[in-house]
Amino acid sequence: MLVLNPSFIVTMDRECRIIKDGFIGIEEGKIVYVSKEKPQEYEEIIRLPKRVLLPGFINTHTHVAMTILRGLKDDVNLQRWLMEYILPVEKLLKPKDVYYGALYGIAEMIKSGTTTFMDMYYHEIEVAKAAADAKIRSVLTYGLADVFFNTLPEEEFKKAEKFKDDLSALVSSRGLDDFLFFAYGPHSPYGCTKELLQIVREAADRDNFRIHIHLSETKSEVENSVRTSNMTPIEYLESVGFLKSDVMAAHVVWPTDGDIEILKHRGVHVLHNPTSNLKLASGVAPVPKFLEKGINVALATDGPASNNRLDMWKEISLAALIHKGISRDPEVISARTALQMATINGAYALGLERKIGSLEVGKYADFVVVNLERALESVPFHDVYSMIVYALDSRYIDSVWINGELMYSQENVLKTIDVQKLREIVNDIRIRLTQEAGIKTPSEV
Ligand SMILES: [Zn+2]
Repeated sequence: MLVLNPSFIVTMDRECRIIKDGFIGIEEGKIVYVSKEKPQEYEEIIRLPKRVLLPGFINTHTHVAMTILRGLKDDVNLQRWLMEYILPVEKLLKPKDVYYGALYGIAEMIKSGTTTFMDMYYHEIEVAKAAADAKIRSVLTYGLADVFFNTLPEEEFKKAEKFKDDLSALVSSRGLDDFLFFAYGPHSPYGCTKELLQIVREAADRDNFRIHIHLSETKSEVENSVRTSNMTPIEYLESVGFLKSDVMAAHVVWPTDGDIEILKHRGVHVLHNPTSNLKLASGVAPVPKFLEKGINVALATDGPASNNRLDMWKEISLAALIHKGISRDPEVISARTALQMATINGAYALGLERKIGSLEVGKYADFVVVNLERALESVPFHDVYSMIVYALDSRYIDSVWINGELMYSQENVLKTIDVQKLREIVNDIRIRLTQEAGIKTPSEV
């Protein structure tokens, strides 16, 4: 057993215990010991003075390969951004582009403390290969949208089934059980026909897989839905029997009070993307209302083309601040709640709460070591949650561990990814794609 002895272990367990000068033991990728007392037997103790151990962050909604499209177009609304810039370039993406874009984004995520992410994209098997090569945990969903692609629902659904088979082959050939997980990814109620949504619902019920979907992201999405069906997107999904406790709904910026009751009643998980919602001017999700109702809210970055980063620490800090300003109530989301949203709540949303999300015996050793000595802002010391959420940021991460393995250390070294080589590859892909699409980026105009 390898033992770490930091100044603080922020467990994020049920009691939210913080263990001062405690010991955490790791064996075969799992946490086998957490205590204030020094263990009797151990191989080695690594002392970590002035260091804080946190569970690894769980980024519950992203399109990680979109690193390639980062900065392609900023400062326009979702509709223009998607239709005039993102979709024309995405049509030209080759599988290898998705692989390299994903690997680059995964490097950013690991470096900023994310140890598990959930993705939705095309050529999703390439994202899975990148996650497998990087050895990061992930829930992978193939984005289905028969309305966007003008395909038949059954045809579109086959993409998810093929991806499921390919993923399962990848997992068994690489021995990556408990690293890569499958879920269904129907894009949105407006991107999918009712038939496709029902096919997905039936398959999820049959095979016991979860469902990842964009929901009520913009005001115009809700208005269009009311115009065409006389129902909000949430009422519409409820009317076709889609909503259950295995649904992971990204955004939910524009729910009515009735919608919130439906989400609560069905046990739907909300994936909150504060930066992306602000940047695309979609609005601010009513997270305090969700929390008040007992709806599980997890945090996410969304894709790097609408953020433009994949840094969960930034989302934690923003989530803790923005709802105070909107509601003019400083108590709506505490620093601790914001950190829960990025860790244990994410694990609940993904259905992985027995495996990750807190530092407890039996869970995987996925964690982040923060160096207080490097942060001028860590003095004076009052409260660890306050310091982490309001004063520090991901620059002060010393190391990131996944499955008990050191994946990133302060010498700026990522164990599984050669970032220097990737930088050039990703830049070259970006140049090729924008030339083919005939789009000039701001620096080329
Ligand atoms: Zn999204």
